Amino acid sequence: MHIKNTSQENHNNLKYTISLFKDKNNLANSILDNANLIILVWKGSGNLIKFNNYAQKLTGFKEIEMLGNGWDGHLVDDVLKASMMKGFSDLSKDIIPPPHETYVFDKAGHKIDVFWSNSVLYDEKRKPSIFIAMGTDISNRKIVEKRLVNSYKTLKMLNDRLSLAQIELSTRYEELKFSQESLKEVEERFRLALEGSKDGIWDWKIKANKFSLSTQCKIMLGYRDKELNDTLSSWLKLIHKDDIESFQQAMKKHLCKQTLFLNINVRMKTKIGMYKWILIRGKAIFDNDNSPIRMAGSTTDITSRRKNEETIYKLAYYDSLTNLPNRTLFNLKLADELKKSLKYNTQLALLYMDLDNFKSINDTFGHHFGDKLLIEVTKSFECLMRDNIIISRLGGDEFMVLISDIHDITYACELSNEIIKSLYRPFIINSTSVFVTTSIGIVVYPNDGSDIETLLKNADAAMYHAKSLGKNNYQLFSTELNAKLVEKMELEKTLRFALLNRKEKEFMVYYQPQVDAKTGELVGMEALVRWTHPKRGFISPNQFIPIAEETGLINEIDEFVIKATCKQLRQWQYQGYKLVPVSVNISANQFKQQNIFNKIKAILDETEISPKWLHIEITESATISDMNLATKILNRFKALGIKVLLDDFGTGYSSLNHLKNLPINTLKIDKSFIDRIAYEESEKAIAHTLIELAHILNMDVIAEGVETEAQLEVLKAQQCDKIQGYLFSKPLPPDKLEYLFSRKQISIYEANEL
Ligand code: C2E
Ligand code: CA
Ligand code: CA
Repeated sequence: MHIKNTSQENHNNLKYTISLFKDKNNLANSILDNANLIILVWKGSGNLIKFNNYAQKLTGFKEIEMLGNGWDGHLVDDVLKASMMKGFSDLSKDIIPPPHETYVFDKAGHKIDVFWSNSVLYDEKRKPSIFIAMGTDISNRKIVEKRLVNSYKTLKMLNDRLSLAQIELSTRYEELKFSQESLKEVEERFRLALEGSKDGIWDWKIKANKFSLSTQCKIMLGYRDKELNDTLSSWLKLIHKDDIESFQQAMKKHLCKQTLFLNINVRMKTKIGMYKWILIRGKAIFDNDNSPIRMAGSTTDITSRRKNEETIYKLAYYDSLTNLPNRTLFNLKLADELKKSLKYNTQLALLYMDLDNFKSINDTFGHHFGDKLLIEVTKSFECLMRDNIIISRLGGDEFMVLISDIHDITYACELSNEIIKSLYRPFIINSTSVFVTTSIGIVVYPNDGSDIETLLKNADAAMYHAKSLGKNNYQLFSTELNAKLVEKMELEKTLRFALLNRKEKEFMVYYQPQVDAKTGELVGMEALVRWTHPKRGFISPNQFIPIAEETGLINEIDEFVIKATCKQLRQWQYQGYKLVPVSVNISANQFKQQNIFNKIKAILDETEISPKWLHIEITESATISDMNLATKILNRFKALGIKVLLDDFGTGYSSLNHLKNLPINTLKIDKSFIDRIAYEESEKAIAHTLIELAHILNMDVIAEGVETEAQLEVLKAQQCDKIQGYLFSKPLPPDKLEYLFSRKQISIYEANEL
């Protein structure tokens, strides 16, 4: 607009100038030359007659170069040219080419932006005769304009981005509003649920450090609402000092986003100073930078649940009698300690201890008494407790001590000595005082075994070694013991194989005569198994019977012996011999299995042997663990007519008191009582008492292992009923003793000479 005005003015000015042209030529020329306009004047249809000074300076073209040019010469753009041509061709009046903007190039080729405003002069005949183009240099304006446009564009772009961001912002805002609303809803529901339950809630606005606890949170700990401040520190102060670290750790982990929830059990102090187990749960909300802004959660009183858990744990891992760790816990701890020892290359020791005369005490005074004694014994160990020692009760009268991280075996030996000495005092229970000793087997990891099983097995072997050396001592496991163990395992394998594949070939039954002490008449026999291995030769029952008992193979051996004996009796009967009863040994293990009665009965039926020819020998241990059961089984044998002999009497722990209720016919006094009977008055007195008591209880007595005439004389004088021993005969194979059936009397040593 402004530009157009100026050009219109210029145009008028020019009209005036031209009119002056004819008269005042010089003045006009100088005005044209000095005007700040590009002026080009054409005469008629295209012959440039003026190119002013300003234009020459601006474009670099000289007037001389320009004069004479037509409408298509330098500086004429298409619009100018078209409008000029139109103007000259069109006869109608007042046609002025429209003002317009364009650009031209100066002589050096630089671009010049020009605003053209043109006019036409007419002659008398109203024909266009002079054409004038006037241009204003608008290059500077154009630059400003361009900059303006650029700025506008940038502005627009920014504006666009801004509105995009605004849109996003408002969407987010809507979302936030929505989630806040649903959060509120969730919170509300949560609150309602919590009010319904007994849980408390806590809320911590972390940035503002505002903490609040629900009333229930406080009630749980015995506080009224106002009595406990709503500050984090006063709440945390209530956590037990032993739990605070784990609480802080859990909190830290959650706030570092390592856990999805805070979930931890702590003890918290109640108003009255007791502790309750509280489960603290919580969840934090984080901002975009992952820093927590708020955390909230619940508290639950789990004291009674914890107590139940503790009770269950105690039941599972502690011995209810002595409160010592039980076998399960011991094994877990041992496994742990073994791992540590392996990792840190340290040693540990196990002391396997077994009370020596506990069984006899139990049998004499009853289980209640025994239990009380175990509690007292446990108390004696209390003074031995150290940080690296665990004492556990494996069951019965067996204890195991674990000493971790020891430097040498001396420490284990010293402790064993202390244990043994701690029992050197009378234990007074129900106003009765008793003494108890213990045998201990020691093993050291890693020397004596690298796994639990081997260590325990070797400790057991060492303990038995201690027992065999007279009890009340400790023994270290040794390689010799280990060799014995290996030998035992070998023997077990051989025995198993023989029983499975070569029973009839390798096993035989020998019979040892029992004679009447007064008359020397054959009154019975004991069936004793014999094993001859094709390579190893004769293997003593003392060697393999204990292994057979441990492994249960004894059942098969006993059954074999019973069958063989019955068959032998059948044959002797068939051959017309006058039979005597034969006693077979029934191991304690076998006896406790109720079907032993049925097995024997079936064998008797099968071989058609009267039960009166078969006696059974049982040891005290068969009757000890379950008196009622033993009585029941023995009564069945009695009812069938099978007599029962009590073997090895005096070596076990039972008292005659214990036996008086059992249906036993004969007492066999063990060889160890007979050995010194001839020259030791005390032994003689014991034998005498035993025989008298047995007679009072209506039992016969057989003296076992009688080897000398002197022994025989003593026993005769003491009214012993029967004699079994090398003095008369060793156990013999059937064909070697058949002749004895027909004898009225057996002379001493007679059968041995055969
Ligand atoms: P036991 O039942 O006490 O048998 C008596 C043992 O004493 C027998 O040893 C016998 O040979 C031995 N003996 C007898 N008189 C004398 C003597 O005057 N001097 C000496 N030094 N020894 C004598 P054996 O046959 O070696 O048996 C040892 C143990 O093995 C038996 O002791 C018994 O407990 C067990 N046993 C043997 N055969 C069987 C069996 O068939 N079944 C079961 N369960 N155990 C058996
Ligand atoms: Ca026997
Ligand atoms: Ca015996």
